[in-house]
Amino acid sequence: MDINYTSPSIAPNLTLFACEKLHAQLTPQSCSNHFENSRYIQCVGCPIGEYHTPKVSNNCSNNRSQNMAPNPACTRCQKAGRRLVFKKTLCISCANREYEVRKGKNSKGTEPILAQSRLRRVVVTLIHKENECNWEGLVVDESEAKRVIERLYFGALISTVFFYEHSDGGNQSKE
Ligand SMILES: [Zn+2]
Repeated sequence: MDINYTSPSIAPNLTLFACEKLHAQLTPQSCSNHFENSRYIQCVGCPIGEYHTPKVSNNCSNNRSQNMAPNPACTRCQKAGRRLVFKKTLCISCANREYEVRKGKNSKGTEPILAQSRLRRVVVTLIHKENECNWEGLVVDESEAKRVIERLYFGALISTVFFYEHSDGGNQSKE
């Protein structure tokens, strides 16, 4: 499949591609939304729509590295020597921020805008012990996603890293 992605110079973080069927510039996420909702007749059965739609499955069991350092660092802030939660990935402080984002409220009862703007929902497709599976979660960037996969699925090969668009982040949870 040949898809040419571009980023407009005024919005370098935006990824677009030319959808020939709809004659429109779409983001992979809006393409995926159209595909999932059969928004237009052209979207039904579209291989590009299917390609942009992550399939969340989990055939892989976690396999922590036997050689993991006794006090590994938080996968997000990368500070060492902190107690880790969420399967030994996040320190308490990062975990609390993430929990607030998932709830949509911080300890003051207001929307955690700053934390929300940093976290992006990602689906990582990986091959682990000859099984393909997906990990879905919140991360600040691709390198954090890689650190999480390395910790949860030691030795896994990452095939794709798919970021949902920011505005959809909270609503796409499949947990
Ligand atoms: Zn941390």
